[in-house]
Amino acid sequence: MSVTAFTVENIPLIKAGDDLARILNGKTELKEHDIVVISSTIVSKSEGRIVSLDNVNVTEKAKTIAKRNDNDPRFVQAVLDESEEILLESPFLLVRTRNGSICVNAGIDHSNVEGEKNILLLPDDPDKSARQIKESIFKYTSKKVSVVITDTNGRAFRIGQTGAAIGIAGIKASRDWRGTKDLFGRVLEVKNEAVVDEIAGFANILMGEGNGGTPIVIIRGMGMYHESYGIRELFRPEKEDVIRRALKSLSA
Ligand code: GDP
Ligand code: MN
Ligand code: MN
Repeated sequence: MSVTAFTVENIPLIKAGDDLARILNGKTELKEHDIVVISSTIVSKSEGRIVSLDNVNVTEKAKTIAKRNDNDPRFVQAVLDESEEILLESPFLLVRTRNGSICVNAGIDHSNVEGEKNILLLPDDPDKSARQIKESIFKYTSKKVSVVITDTNGRAFRIGQTGAAIGIAGIKASRDWRGTKDLFGRVLEVKNEAVVDEIAGFANILMGEGNGGTPIVIIRGMGMYHESYGIRELFRPEKEDVIRRALKSLSA
């Protein structure tokens, strides 16, 4: 098997209201069933998800957590405002966002955002964003593509961050190997491969984390197009999640 992956060059600084599909269409020629991987940073910018720390109303709870974690209370408040559940308060805030994903600081970023006091929230509903971009790409190009929106995430147990998929469209989140056979005829029981995270991880290498200005990566030749979307199937249900329960019992 052979695939091609490349960054799309000359993407401008993205502003609220920008049409990412139109910008992309002007910079590269897409092919049927390409996987278009887009950093959440530019999706958030296009959706106007920038907040000034000056406009955050800090609560006592945010002040307490900020003191404990040596953080800016306004930043902590912005994280709390995006969160439905706190899994860990200290030494860092690990939360479940309104959208259901669990991440440090609700995925709020300082980096690659213009303005000292500005922070960037994740897209409000990344699956919806991915679906809209997919449909918009079809409108401009008549090509059916998969869209994977990524963010750089840390992980438990291992040092170092990798790309993770936070919203998808036109692709299945996972590939189920259960019921198929291994090299020696044994039936596989537990291999459910989170392919969209693998795609996000690879694309993230090409995007980089700094001033590369390469927030969109095209992956061609994977043959993974599927008329479906939804990252939620990768969210482990709370009752099956021993780590989540253990973390919460620490804070209790
Ligand atoms: P995240 O992983 O989604 O949080 O995004 P990063 O901040 O790590 O940025 C990923 C890539 O997108 C890097 O190459 C950045 O330089 C680039 N990037 C971020 N914002 C913009 C933008 O507005 N325009 C362009 N052209 N590149 C951007
Ligand atoms: Mn980020
Ligand atoms: Mn990144």
